[in-house]
Amino acid sequence: MKDIILTGDRPTGRLHLGHYVGSLKNRVKMQNETDFEKMYVMIADSQALTDNFDNPEKIRENLIEVALDYLSVGLDPAKVTFFVQSQIPELTELTFYFLNLVTLSRLERNPTVKSEIKLRNFETSLPAGFLIYPVSQAADILLFDANIVPVGEDQEPMLEQARELARSFNNIYGKTFVEPKAVLPETKIARRMPGIDGGAKMSKSLGNAIYLADDKKTVKKKVMSMYTDPNHINIDDPGRVEGNIVFTYLDVFSKPEHFKEFLPDYENLDALKDHYRRGGLGDVKCKKFLIKVLEDELEPIRNKRADLEKDLEKVFDILEDGTRRAREAGQKKIEEVKKAMGINYFVDKDLIKTLQEKYK
Ligand code: ATP
Ligand code: MG
Repeated sequence: MKDIILTGDRPTGRLHLGHYVGSLKNRVKMQNETDFEKMYVMIADSQALTDNFDNPEKIRENLIEVALDYLSVGLDPAKVTFFVQSQIPELTELTFYFLNLVTLSRLERNPTVKSEIKLRNFETSLPAGFLIYPVSQAADILLFDANIVPVGEDQEPMLEQARELARSFNNIYGKTFVEPKAVLPETKIARRMPGIDGGAKMSKSLGNAIYLADDKKTVKKKVMSMYTDPNHINIDDPGRVEGNIVFTYLDVFSKPEHFKEFLPDYENLDALKDHYRRGGLGDVKCKKFLIKVLEDELEPIRNKRADLEKDLEKVFDILEDGTRRAREAGQKKIEEVKKAMGINYFVDKDLIKTLQEKYK
């Protein structure tokens, strides 16, 4: 059987380089190189509301931003079904049934959710909807029979949860769901891209991101403010490249041809790193090189976005059309789910006959 691929993003802000290397690039690659059955890309607005319920305007605004980002990195509506989570009630329905199959203590053990609770100061008053979002995420994946989910490292516990729910459901009600697997980026750094402040993860919520839609001036400013080696004070001091975010980003983004074009004094990244380690190479020179390297990737994305921004109606049509198609698939699946659970009362014409037998 061919793959069904599903991924999504929360519309809590524009998408950034972490999303790009952690997931978007993989999606575009799969879109162009794999012979899949279906590829879904979901804007997870209901999930975003679990920690932004008091700021619905933010979600409403960012829905279109995320859609613009998708299209500008090259995801193609002719190949991909884009949909909006909240507009598919079958997802909420499935979440409700799944909630019976998971315990509170299991939910409290999820390491990604644990760290997100801390980050959001939810320790003393935790919205129940936030704690259970991994269950709703499992529904997102399983309702569409997705077996492949290209994500960053922070999503692995969610996939584990989805597999457990698929297994429990299948055990109790009969084989209905496939167990999905995460596809992580090849390189370790891309699985969890650090922020420009050196923080462990570039994230919309942490204010440490370079956005795909940032203009050239902003990218420049952000790179110039990047965390490097705090002990590399004078140019002649030896420097460290490990944990130095400029080099981390160069590891991910620089290609051999960038050296030929922008920095011909160095043959490759190893040569640049060696010089930095020895001393005698300043941060500014490395940062200027990184700006050029990033611009090489970001400029075409930015240009495409500028075109799309002129016709938002078209972007909305793409979302609406995809949502309609995704809903059709979801409705079919939820019928299967209800049949397995024996709650398809009005569809199952044998039911009334069987019950009637009892009274004969
Ligand atoms: P929020 O702070 O609102 O949770 P986020 O920046 O974490 O936003 P999500 O929408 O939660 O973004 O994540 C979408 C996808 O991007 C997920 O697959 C996630 O693993 C991936 N991702 C997000 N940040 C990074 C990162 N820094 N490095 C690699 N992948 C990432
Ligand atoms: Mg997140």
